[in-house]
Amino acid sequence: MDRQSPTRLVVATGNVGKVRELGDALAGLPFELVAQGELGIESAPETACTFLENALGKARHAARVSGLPAIADDSGLVVPSLGGAPGVHSARYAGADATDADNNAKLLRELGTGTPCDAYFTCCLVHIASPADPTPVVAMARWHGQIIPAPRGSNGFGYDPYFLVPGLGKTSAQLPLKEKNRLSHRGQACRLLAGLLAGNGEMPARRP
Ligand code: IMP
Repeated sequence: MDRQSPTRLVVATGNVGKVRELGDALAGLPFELVAQGELGIESAPETACTFLENALGKARHAARVSGLPAIADDSGLVVPSLGGAPGVHSARYAGADATDADNNAKLLRELGTGTPCDAYFTCCLVHIASPADPTPVVAMARWHGQIIPAPRGSNGFGYDPYFLVPGLGKTSAQLPLKEKNRLSHRGQACRLLAGLLAGNGEMPARRP
């Protein structure tokens, strides 16, 4: 890679906050990030049953339409006692047009009990050099906590007011953004991807 001229990379998200967080993590690497919306690229549908496949689908779509290398993410909340739900359906758990309040209400209904329940957020970030790149770079991370029956805090989005962070005694909606990014699934995955793209953490050679 030419050290002088950064590689343009399309980020397959419409969320400005995600582009900024990724930009912070990748600062120092020779990439110039451009959000897919800036190129007039529509979001790809999320139809797969794993975060990895959804992230890859979004990245392939953005790479195909833009002709650029692409990064995409998929994230959500996983509650093992609910068989992994809301999982890849986190954004639309209570229906196609569900609001965060609808999704949280459904989550509490499904959990039934008023006692805290183990859960984790997960984020999968992928980088592909081209639409048919056979060796995507994959970074996956988890942020473990508990779902509590009553909301606390007003920062963040989604399930944040119900996600209690172990050790802090606060929900993720009670954390300042910087602190959340330091701990969160997305923050961890961004830093992991940055390390992988920088050439750290290479996987050992695969033996036959
Ligand atoms: P997406 O990866 O942006 O499509 O996020 C999927 C959904 O997962 C969001 O709409 C939220 O409901 C949930 N989610 C993902 N990350 C977070 C988080 O950091 N806090 C709260 N909810 C989240």
